[in-house]
Amino acid sequence: MNPIKFVTPPIAANAYLLKEDGVLIDAGGDSAFLLKAIEKYSSLKEIKYVFLTHSHFDHAKAADVLQRAGVKVVMHFMEYEFASAIASPLYAVIKPDVVVEGGEVFEFENAKLRVIHTPGHTPGSICLYEPEKKWLFSGDTVFAYGSFGRVDFPGGNAASLVES
Ligand SMILES: [Zn+2]
Repeated sequence: MNPIKFVTPPIAANAYLLKEDGVLIDAGGDSAFLLKAIEKYSSLKEIKYVFLTHSHFDHAKAADVLQRAGVKVVMHFMEYEFASAIASPLYAVIKPDVVVEGGEVFEFENAKLRVIHTPGHTPGSICLYEPEKKWLFSGDTVFAYGSFGRVDFPGGNAASLVES
């Protein structure tokens, strides 16, 4: 089954549900919207992990609600360190249950996700790649048709983004 895409308010960030694997990728903005979307296709009890591509509020703000319900938050260690240090309203500070540094492979029932550290949009941005299905969950690092995320927010770095 393909990932189920949710477009989360307030600024239309994507979140993806891998239903059979109990995995959510990103948890943006409005937690009430996200919980309702999850319950439509699955159940909060079935969600085991939420991977955060980065901790801007539109991708991560609802993660604390999921975490309190027992969902494990997976995030790059630099992202947590940066968000904690800067205390900017653009960043949601979520203490991860599982920290990654890039290179890890998470094997689930139907998909495996390889973590790729892709700094630039934020210091600890990650992309997640499913090698067999060729899915790339790229957060705000790169968008469809080749455009890419902003680098003018705190922690952004254009040279790093190009490299990523
Ligand atoms: Zn962002």
